[in-house]
Amino acid sequence: MGMATILAGMPDMWRDTLAAHVPDQHGYCQTCRNSSGVSATWPCRIREVAEEAKYIHDGGLPGTFTGRHSRH
Ligand SMILES: [Zn+2]
Repeated sequence: MGMATILAGMPDMWRDTLAAHVPDQHGYCQTCRNSSGVSATWPCRIREVAEEAKYIHDGGLPGTFTGRHSRH
């Protein structure tokens, strides 16, 4: 069972993640920064997992999520 499948059963978790992991004006994740200020490019890996969790929660089959950026 993948991380997204587990997360799909915890809507509060992926909703918070989707709200927090948003891009800044440079296209980097606002939440994924290390102590030296380096950010992950957005969508970061955590964001992708949360989006897949939402997809599964909404009735998608685990492992079939390909709709990045197509659902808002
Ligand atoms: Zn992030």
